[in-house]
Amino acid sequence: MGKLDKFKVELRGMTAPTATLEMDIDNNFFALIDAPEVQKGKAQVTVNVTKKSGTFLLDFDINGYVIVNCDRCLDEMEQPIATTGSLSVKLGNDFGEDGDTVIVPERDGYINVAWYIYEFVALAIPLKHVHAPGKCNREMMDKLRKHTAREEDEEAADGNGPVETDPRWDALKDIMDN
Ligand SMILES: [Zn+2]
Repeated sequence: MGKLDKFKVELRGMTAPTATLEMDIDNNFFALIDAPEVQKGKAQVTVNVTKKSGTFLLDFDINGYVIVNCDRCLDEMEQPIATTGSLSVKLGNDFGEDGDTVIVPERDGYINVAWYIYEFVALAIPLKHVHAPGKCNREMMDKLRKHTAREEDEEAADGNGPVETDPRWDALKDIMDN
């Protein structure tokens, strides 16, 4: 049994026209999938499978949160996630794609949806994510503000406006490296 086996959706053996599966995800899921952008989180995932003339339509409903770094203070924060996604799957000779439809080998008869769930979650994270007002790490904010102010002085002559992202990326990189 592979560690991500619970994300297998049996298609070939499906006897009823519809099926509903619950596949909750947690920190372990993100660790197993070796996710590039998200390492921690927790969500309830419901998959509704509908079989229609040889095509399986998988509808995902995902509700939970992921832990990401706040854009403002760089501390970890809970980003709520409520999203949906869908996937159309057919059985065929080999792995492949036919337009928007994913083909999985008939001999396997299933699709593992772990990576698709990860993608739906990752896509649902807003580009900008910050703590609620007043919830940021003050100490870090002060440090960043001093750093940013220095950069602004240096960049002021360019007319490009303040370069706020650089110090934050540097700090983020330090966090990642640790
Ligand atoms: Zn914050």
